[in-house]
Amino acid sequence: MTTRINPLGFLSDEMNALKEKGTYFKLRVLDDEQAAVCHFDGRKVINLASNNYLGLTTHPRLREAALAATKKYGVGSGAVRTIAGTMRLHMELEEKIARFKGVEACVVFQSGFTANAGTVSAILGKDDYIISDELNHASIIDGCRLSRAKILVFRHKDFAHAEEQLASVANLPGKKLLITDGVFSMDGDIGPLPGLCAAAEKYGAIMMVDDAHSSGVLGRQGRGTIDHFGMHGRVDIQVGTLSKAIGALGGYVCGTKDFIEYLYHRARPFLFSTSHPPSVAATCIAAIDVLEQEPQWMEQLWANTRFFKKELGLLGFNIGGVNTPASETPITPIILGDGRATMEFSKAIFEQGVMGTGIAFPTVPEGKARVRTIVTATHTESELTEALEVLGRVGKKMGLIS
Ligand SMILES: *Cc1c(COP(=O)(O)O)cnc(C)c1O
Repeated sequence: MTTRINPLGFLSDEMNALKEKGTYFKLRVLDDEQAAVCHFDGRKVINLASNNYLGLTTHPRLREAALAATKKYGVGSGAVRTIAGTMRLHMELEEKIARFKGVEACVVFQSGFTANAGTVSAILGKDDYIISDELNHASIIDGCRLSRAKILVFRHKDFAHAEEQLASVANLPGKKLLITDGVFSMDGDIGPLPGLCAAAEKYGAIMMVDDAHSSGVLGRQGRGTIDHFGMHGRVDIQVGTLSKAIGALGGYVCGTKDFIEYLYHRARPFLFSTSHPPSVAATCIAAIDVLEQEPQWMEQLWANTRFFKKELGLLGFNIGGVNTPASETPITPIILGDGRATMEFSKAIFEQGVMGTGIAFPTVPEGKARVRTIVTATHTESELTEALEVLGRVGKKMGLIS
């Protein structure tokens, strides 16, 4: 037998390069529930790393809904939606989200990622134009690439620049799509919807907003940025996720009835990937009930956010606003710039009992590495105080703050 050369050997070189650069990581493994205080890799930590804004991952009503649906309907849907995998629970969830958002119709995808990628690639083609914020989420960027439309990137939140780009293609044939995140996931700032909607309307462009980090966080009862800005009826495509504040898994797209039916017929993840298990649909239905009936979670989330942001700023960390956008939401980045220093800081706070994940290139631009923190409704003030104490102590020891 001849010795076989591993054709994937070049990947080991890539991994070694990351190790040398200091941005190699191992996955941290959660031993128990996704909660404000939990255990990763056997260590008890105050968890500032999840997107579990409202603590719904462990809410009793959601747990019960998942268990009841599993008992009644089993564990899987057995097919893609268009073949035999549309269960009554899937339809119920879509109707519920549509009513909650005040739109005609809704389609649920397996994830927020597939919702974005599947939608953009379904409605546009190679003769069309996409005008996209430079910090839009990877799933939007992939959707844009899959569509083969021409992509014009505008400076972050600069709606005048977006308008210039719309103007530059106004006389060319082809559809135009203007697209932004509602809340930007790495910096926590809010997309300038009023300015962007006005620009889209001026040029007859389709307006699309991805509210992954705003659903359950901004707007009345967590209806998102469209509600926050009062832009009802002016955003053609609203995307959201069921994986963050909603606590489970999934993505959804809201809009007119014809548009949603079109996605039923043409969105590739909808057509070619199996639908959610009944437990997930039932969980998300219960989550919308909780948003409508239990305002205390959002109130506590924002009270915790105000407290934590203020104290973190007082410690002297760069929490955005200088050469990076200023956060306006529970996402608060601790920006260190250097990838290696960021990973070392993340490791050091972990050893002292605080989970804050280091995020470097390519998730954020080169030189903008950070530990991203997200507080949740279920952190107590004493837990947040303890976390701040650790961040301050480690930050001083490492010479990151004085
Ligand atoms: C997290 C995120 C997504 C993806 O949502 P999933 O449900 O986790 O796939 C999409 N867009 C933005 C802006 C996000 O932050």
